[in-house]
Parts: sequence; structure tokens; C-alpha cells
Amino acid sequence: MMRSILVIVFVLLISPLLLAAKGKKISKIVVDAGHGGTRDPGAHGSFSYEKDITLAVSLKLGKIVSDSMKDVEVLFTRTTDVYPSLTERHEIANKANADLFLSIHVNSTPFTYTKVLQGYKTVKKKRKTVKQPIYRKIQHHVTTRKGVETYVLALHRDSQKQKSIEENSENFTEDAALLNVNDPQTSIILAQYSQAFLSKSVNLGTRIQEQFGAQGRPDLGVKQLPLEVLAGSAMPGVLVEMGFITNPDEEEYLNSARGQEEVAMAIYKGIKAYKADVEK
Ligand SMILES: [Zn+2]
Repeated sequence: MMRSILVIVFVLLISPLLLAAKGKKISKIVVDAGHGGTRDPGAHGSFSYEKDITLAVSLKLGKIVSDSMKDVEVLFTRTTDVYPSLTERHEIANKANADLFLSIHVNSTPFTYTKVLQGYKTVKKKRKTVKQPIYRKIQHHVTTRKGVETYVLALHRDSQKQKSIEENSENFTEDAALLNVNDPQTSIILAQYSQAFLSKSVNLGTRIQEQFGAQGRPDLGVKQLPLEVLAGSAMPGVLVEMGFITNPDEEEYLNSARGQEEVAMAIYKGIKAYKADVEK
């Protein structure tokens, strides 16, 4: 009798610790190379597509994690130039009961236009002949913006913080598959994505940004958006925008072997710092 009581007491004491320990350990990481295939090349610069950069960096990152963290299993949402849907990407993470979801992307800026005077034409207006200018529209797709930003899921679209972020996110075009807040399914998704996941995601994002900062890359911060790509996976997750493909210097850098190694290393070191934080 005494013994069974002791066992019960022991179990009662130990079970929260076991649960906590289980939640703490980072043993499975999903690396999601953004975009892919002919269907979704992502953003483009003057000579490259986002989907190829995200794949190259994801594979490098996965290899570094596998080689350096023997207790961590890496899962990829794609390892070739194919397009898994967002649902398929989430399924990979959820079925594996992964601990972290990292979506790898490249930023871009919208096209801008300038009007250049080409000449004049004469038109008749109310018996008068009028001279009208002819303009040609020139499309620009380069920017001086540069640096790295990390996104976490915004739980409340109407929060003040969210609004201020959205106002600052005019350039966030390519990955702006935002949740429809009027859809009942969305509230279910957001309810599953708990506040605990959010604070962990912010921590991970902060750790990753710190590493980019240490490499001398401009740190554009951790931001919140109601991104569909982050909402479907039931675990902490971030979306890393590794630089601007529309900035010629960053496009060059992100396509170089050295640049891809450095970016993968910054993300790896961020994961390592986060892992140490939650497992201590
Ligand atoms: Zn993207």
C-alpha cells in the first residue's frame, strides 16, 4: 500500500517535469525552402530566382545542423526544384511532430516607374490644335534597401503593433499570402497556434537576427505578420528573409557560395543559441 502511494506521489511529482522536459528538447527541425518549381519561382533579381537561392541555402543549413547537432533530425519540405503547397509543407512538419519550422526566403521590393518625355503629338481639341507630350514608362526593379528580417506569426491582425508593422511592410509583396481573418478556419488555426509558440518564435527570430548582425549584415529586426506559411504548423516557427534580390549587391552575395555558407551559418548559430535557451 505504502509502496503504491509512493509510486503515485512519485508519478505526480515527476510527470510535470517529464512533460516540461519533452517540450523543451529540440530534436526535429523542418527546413522549408520557400517557393519552387515552375509554378512558383518567387521573387527575381537581374539574373536569379528566389526559389534557387532558398533551396541552396536550405540544403546547406540542413547539412550544417545534421553534422553539428547529432541529437537533431532535419526534415526538408523540398530538396529539389519542385513546388509543395503550403498545406503539404505544414503536413510534413505536423506529421513529424517537429519542434521548429524554419521557412527560408529572399526579400524583394516592388517595381517602381519613372516617366520619360519622348516627344509630342498634336491633337485636335474643339477646333484647336494642341500639342501633347508623349511619355514612356520605364520600369525599375532595383533597390538600395538591404539586410535581413525575420517574420513571426501575428496572432491578432487588429492589434496596434500589427498595424504599425503592416504600415512598414509595404515591400513585403512576394510572401504576403496573408490569412483571411474573416474565415472561420483562420480563428481555429490561430487558436491552435498558442501564445507560447509565439514567444518562442520571437526568441528564435531574435537569436537569428543577432547572428546576422554579428556578420555585419543590416539587422531589420523581427516582425509580425499573419502569414499563412507560419500559421499551419503547430510549433514555433519563423520566416527568414535573407536579403534583397532586387539589391544588386545582395543578389550577387546570395548567389555566391560564400554568401550562402555565411547565411546558412548565421541561421544555424541562431538555432543553436535558441536551443541552448530552451533546453537549459
Ligand atoms: Zn519568398
